[in-house]
Amino acid sequence: MHGRKEALIKLHEYQSRELLAEFGIPVPDGHVAQTPDEAELAARRLGGKAVIKAQVLTGGRGKAGGVKPAQSPEDAHRAADAILGMDIKGHTVNKVLVGRLLDITEEYYASVTIDRTNKRIVFIISAAGGVDIELVAAQTPGRIITIGASPLEGPFKDELLAHLIDLFPSENLAHEAAAVLLKMYQLFIEKDCSLVEVNPLVITRDGSMIAADAKILLDDNGLYKHPELERLRNMEEYSEDETLARKAGLSFVSLEGTVGCMVNGAGLAMATMDVIKHFGGSPANFLDVGGSSNPQKVIDALSIILRNTHLRAVLINIFGGITRCDDIAGGILAAREQLDISVPVIIRLIGTNQQEGQDLLQSAGMIAKSDMTDAVTSVVESVNKG
Ligand code: GDP
Ligand code: MN
Repeated sequence: MHGRKEALIKLHEYQSRELLAEFGIPVPDGHVAQTPDEAELAARRLGGKAVIKAQVLTGGRGKAGGVKPAQSPEDAHRAADAILGMDIKGHTVNKVLVGRLLDITEEYYASVTIDRTNKRIVFIISAAGGVDIELVAAQTPGRIITIGASPLEGPFKDELLAHLIDLFPSENLAHEAAAVLLKMYQLFIEKDCSLVEVNPLVITRDGSMIAADAKILLDDNGLYKHPELERLRNMEEYSEDETLARKAGLSFVSLEGTVGCMVNGAGLAMATMDVIKHFGGSPANFLDVGGSSNPQKVIDALSIILRNTHLRAVLINIFGGITRCDDIAGGILAAREQLDISVPVIIRLIGTNQQEGQDLLQSAGMIAKSDMTDAVTSVVESVNKG
């Protein structure tokens, strides 16, 4: 379950452009439109010609017909009409970006990302940018340059420039590209990104350099440092349950299985999912109720877990440290009063106030186990029986 540990926030192109512009990287003017009429108006504001681009959280829009040049506002209306509602790799297009139409002569690829193996930040650059960059990477990897940068010292501008001089048609453009890359790096570091990609970084007929497409991934785990970026989170990326969980302050990820999990602590939650799989079950969700023992959190957590129609059983696995088992037990009892629970609930409680918690549950006719293997095998058995 890598989803949580490396939770990434994908930005739309128009959102990525905003961040690039904030860091001084040249991007084309543009407006977001949700209807063909809005797109036509936007094209008019840009002087008539425009490029209409599907805004979906996936790549390859060009090849899927999601990027269309328009020679007039009426043309922009038609293009937007064709693109809005389109399905691109399972993503429905609800918005288009109406951008200034560029007269492109060269397309480069440029990105800043993390090289985990070498514990470095890397620049990836190619003169073969555009829609076929994956093919270039697979067939002619020599056309892609990778330059490492120490996360402590940052990039070496001279080293960067030495590579770019060979790649760009003039020394001037190589310097411009270096400036763009250093700004991408600054953005990458300052906003805790996981990827800042510009593909294509283009040269236009008048010789200027501009970011014609952009893709940024933010690290969700760093977002608390950047409250101003929270508005960029795209709710279409999350299930309704995940959105409810975020509002309740719970760390939750929807999964495909049938065993609902309520666990305290991310590490134990991961381990619990592994053990469920080990014994032949499959988790319906990841859920970390956190370290406090607020009974309301237990009620919120269970109510979200129980929304899942594929659910066959629930496993509550609590290792009490700061969390007190009796508070959790109280929360479970309150939840049982308030919620309509129609699947078996298997509870494992150990740690702080374990005895008090078990007594509380027992007095209400519920059993709390203390052994994790025992609890997991029970929950898998009840799923298989039902
Ligand atoms: P992607 O396919 O999702 O990566 O979308 P891009 O925004 O990268 O667009 C795909 C391709 O469309 C680019 O590689 C360009 O060749 C072309 N394109 C995008 N914007 C323009 C533009 O303003 N003018 C021209 N002539 N072509 C464009
Ligand atoms: Mn692109």
